[in-house]
Order: sequence, then structure tokens, then C-alpha cells
Amino acid sequence: MKTNVKPIILAVGLGLLLLAPQKSSGFYNPSTGQWISRDPLGEEAAQNLSSFVCNDSVNLADAFGLATIRVGFGFDQSAGMDHLTLGLIEAQISTFQSLLAKCCEMTCCKNYDKAKWCNIDIKRVFDSNRKNKPLPPGKVYNLDDAAIVAFVTASIGNINVKSAAQVVVLITRASISQTWDGTKVSPNGNTFPTGILLKIATAQASALAHETGHVVKYVGDASDKVHSTEADNVMSRSGGSNPDCQWCDKVAGLAK
Ligand SMILES: [Zn+2]
Repeated sequence: MKTNVKPIILAVGLGLLLLAPQKSSGFYNPSTGQWISRDPLGEEAAQNLSSFVCNDSVNLADAFGLATIRVGFGFDQSAGMDHLTLGLIEAQISTFQSLLAKCCEMTCCKNYDKAKWCNIDIKRVFDSNRKNKPLPPGKVYNLDDAAIVAFVTASIGNINVKSAAQVVVLITRASISQTWDGTKVSPNGNTFPTGILLKIATAQASALAHETGHVVKYVGDASDKVHSTEADNVMSRSGGSNPDCQWCDKVAGLAK
């Protein structure tokens, strides 16, 4: 059966969860669910972390006037909106933010408008309704099956904060399986036409930044043309820790 969705993009690789420093002075302590130091740019996140369960917060105000990338998170029935899951999300956001900070420091980029790469704030918006984002049959996102691709595409499309976000992410703790170059693999994230599916428990901390690169149609140099062959590049197959000019330019272009 043919499907009209675009090819699914694979993020392979297991990695350690690294607690990267938040922009400026804020550090998140996942064991307490608190920001260790106060960071004015992190206030919205801190408020969401403490109150989101009863407050489906979509804060469109930006008192600091920064260009903002809003990431809209929905959760399927496998992913509890608990401090453990949210701590992992914060690690993803922190890594994403630190990569953008590296963009701002980059000096090697010609032919780019670097002015827009600095002072970008990442905010989160949450959809607490998990009922319209059920688990797939068998509780496995088997992405070789067109029906499951349609299922997960629809579930991502049901994230009700999508209109307020530039990037939409469905968080799961279920399994993802896919055949890649003839071999069955278990990716931690995939990019769909409507957004990202992220297996939060096992994804390395750069997975959100990596998949966002696919959302903005990063053009790679690997054989599949969507990844970088530089191992330390965030757009490598394994998800490195450095951005390149193209990632910076395309991702910064999301900010509003
Ligand atoms: Zn990828």
C-alpha cells in the first residue's frame, strides 16, 4: 500500500542523558523538578513544570521581546506527564537551547544572516489530553506499516497546542520499530509531516534538536542526504553535540 506521507526520517542511537546548562543562569534539577537558580527566560518553563497538570498553559506573551521557538508537546497513553518525563523534556530543551547558543558564537559562517541566530528563546507548550493520542495496536509504533504511520501522523495532528507552536512533538514511552537498510532497528525519534515522534526515555538529549533539523528540511551529506557525516554534528545519524551553519540558519528561521 502506498502512503502519501513523506519518507520517515530516522534518528538512531542511544546516548547518555546529559544535563546541559540552561541559557544564562538557570539549571534544572530533575530530582527535585526545580530550577536551581532563577532565570528570567526560564520562568515560563518553571511555572509550567509546577502547574501544568491542571493548567494547560499556552503563554504567548514574551515580556523580553526575544525571538521565540515554541515547542508543543503532546503525550500518548504510555507517557505520564510526571516529573521524570518532564525532566527528560527539560534536558532536550536545554540541549536545544545550548546548540542555538553555539550558533550565536559561530564565526565560520559566510553567506548567512547570523544576526537572527542570537537571543532565541525556546518555550514549551503542553497538551495534557492523552485520550486522543492513544497507543498503537500492540503498543509498538511499527513504522514499516503504513497504517501505523497514518495513526501516528493523526495523533501528532491531535496535539491541541500545535497552532501555537513552531515544532510539535508527540512524547511516547512505547517502542518504535522500523526497517532501515534491510535491518530492523529501534529508533528513538522520527519526523513526520505533522511533527516529531520522540521516545523520551531512551532518546539522547540532542534528539529534539536533531529531529527539528529534519522538520526544517536539513540537507545532509550522508548517503540518505538528510544527515551529516560529521560524527559530532547534531545532524549526524547518532546525533552529535555541535550545530553547523545550515542547522543554525534553518532552525533559527523557525523563531517568531
Ligand atoms: Zn535523523
